Amino acid sequence: MTAPQTSWIDSANDGNTHFSLQNLPYGVFSTQGQALRVGVAIGDQVVDLNALDQAGLLPEAARGTFAATSLNRFIALGQPVWSETRRRLTALLSGADAALRDNAALRDRALVPMSAATLHLPVEIPGYTDFYSSKEHATNVGRMFRDPDNALLPNWLEIPIGYNGRASSVVVSGTPLHRPNGQIKLPNEARPVFSACRKLDFELEMGFIVGKPSALGEPVSTADAPAHMFGMVLLNDWSARDIQQWEYVPLGPFNSKGFGTSISPWVVTMEALEPFRRDNPAQSPEPLPYLQQQDKNAYDIALEVALQPAGAAAPSTICRTNFKAMYWTMAQQLAHHTVSGCNVRVGDLMGSGTISGTTLDSYGSLLELTRNGAEPLTLADGSQRSFLQDGDDVIMTGYCQGDGYRVGFGTVSGKILPAR
Ligand code: MN
Repeated sequence: MTAPQTSWIDSANDGNTHFSLQNLPYGVFSTQGQALRVGVAIGDQVVDLNALDQAGLLPEAARGTFAATSLNRFIALGQPVWSETRRRLTALLSGADAALRDNAALRDRALVPMSAATLHLPVEIPGYTDFYSSKEHATNVGRMFRDPDNALLPNWLEIPIGYNGRASSVVVSGTPLHRPNGQIKLPNEARPVFSACRKLDFELEMGFIVGKPSALGEPVSTADAPAHMFGMVLLNDWSARDIQQWEYVPLGPFNSKGFGTSISPWVVTMEALEPFRRDNPAQSPEPLPYLQQQDKNAYDIALEVALQPAGAAAPSTICRTNFKAMYWTMAQQLAHHTVSGCNVRVGDLMGSGTISGTTLDSYGSLLELTRNGAEPLTLADGSQRSFLQDGDDVIMTGYCQGDGYRVGFGTVSGKILPAR
């Protein structure tokens, strides 16, 4: 084992921080009275890339793209500029290039304590698609909602199932959401009632951000798909289960999902995730040729969900799982998405689908953890949960474990406010 490369910013070298020198995730932040701009997280600090750019320390090709309210302009520059910027930042923050470390005035301008930064939605998202790629999750849901003996529909093992979601209601971590109202069909009634959701749930997901567009009519192969990905975020696909159950046949979820989707503020680049690629899960039957893949497209990312009721002293961890077990990979999702000729744009968000493992404590939704409310969870404060209550805060986190360092995503959290 060789010691990981370290930074002169000490907090980056604590083996537990998500924001090691090996990570360098991008986000958008502001400080009191100042405009939004692009930053990179390292340890407990945010590096102001606009300040470094103005000092002439970042690649010429990226000039002027960091004084922005989103990452889109930077992302649109393409892979060679992403890599060059990462190399420059690694040199500056390791001290191999002393231009930032040894310049006190620049350090004062460019380093902002994370505690003093407000984090914003990092990407302007033209389109949001949500997949359904965990076999365990699809099996659990199929057992509860349809047929325990035929939980997976025949198409599930052939198609990375997905639906086109709402980009307009994707919000950054920390944004509270109101419990949605909608149509709910009670079992013994002929017609639905209009009511506040009674089965409000979260879905533990990850999402990737498209970094390279594709042209209308031109499919992206599984081999080319990774080159179209800029990075990944944590994603909570909030779900109103009672509204969903009434509306989802025949065209899929609508109001039950469209009221809000939360993502983490830091986008971890595919380059930072490269050491954590793993073998793809076995697939049977063998997928159709356009879905076959040669590269390792699975990623080893440990994930957790915690729930903190209003007034509770601490959150209770209710789920531990891993992204690597997902049946359909992101490359297969993108190949399938574009195979009909549908184009993708810079900033598009692709949700993985709920990430569930094989054990009872690895399910990525309350629907599964409580068997549709039949077996409530007991939290650390003694309270019980079938579904979310007003005031509940749901906190998701995830990281890759390296040799003495972590490449982490921080958290995505959101609190439930009463229905309007
Ligand atoms: Mn979902």
